[in-house]
Amino acid sequence: MNIQENYNDIKKQLPEHVQLVAVSKTHPVSAIQDVYDLGQRIFGENKVQELTEKHPLLPKDIQWHIIGHLQTNKVKYIAEFVDTIQSVDSEKLVREISKEAAKHNRTIKLLLQVKIAEEESKFGLEPAEAREIFSKYLQDEFSNIEITGLMGMATFTDDKEQLRNEFLTLKHLFDEFCQLKPLETLSMGMSDDFPVAVECGANSVRVGSAIFGQRDYSK
Ligand SMILES: *Cc1c(COP(=O)(O)O)cnc(C)c1O
Repeated sequence: MNIQENYNDIKKQLPEHVQLVAVSKTHPVSAIQDVYDLGQRIFGENKVQELTEKHPLLPKDIQWHIIGHLQTNKVKYIAEFVDTIQSVDSEKLVREISKEAAKHNRTIKLLLQVKIAEEESKFGLEPAEAREIFSKYLQDEFSNIEITGLMGMATFTDDKEQLRNEFLTLKHLFDEFCQLKPLETLSMGMSDDFPVAVECGANSVRVGSAIFGQRDYSK
């Protein structure tokens, strides 16, 4: 399969209302340009340095999403152009993004990353911490940011029942938050588990290897 076939295949599987974030980490700008030329506009990267190298070489109307753990001291390098930060895992990070976005007089969209995997995961908020940040957001504690939804990563497993449980946990939290303020985005599902995530209510999926092929970390 080539990138075009992969991309069309994924697009065919996704219902109309589900947004696709093409995860391009480790892949060259030429591959990103190929997928852009097929009509894709939203791309996800997990490393600030990689993103700041690629960004100037690619079309300006790409909406860049950060999907990996972000250190507060790196926010300044992407604040001028990043569309959405999906991996917000502390209040300190929210405050830093708010400060840096203000310097550029813009609003950055955020998703709160919540721990849902049974396996030990390093990053992500406990539901209680996410509630606390969201309640401060509702009280207008942060300027120049908009919390537009939640993001989660399930356990790396083929066990559909377990995947379903983990995704539904996040869907329930999402519904709870939406009672307080309607939110746009529930980001869950990757190459191997996005069909289950969509069944469980995801309206945004992050797909890398199923589009671009396997990642080569040796380079
Ligand atoms: C790498 C990554 C993805 C994409 O993974 P694939 O299995 O290649 O689709 C999605 N979400 C996050 C947070 C990632 O780091």
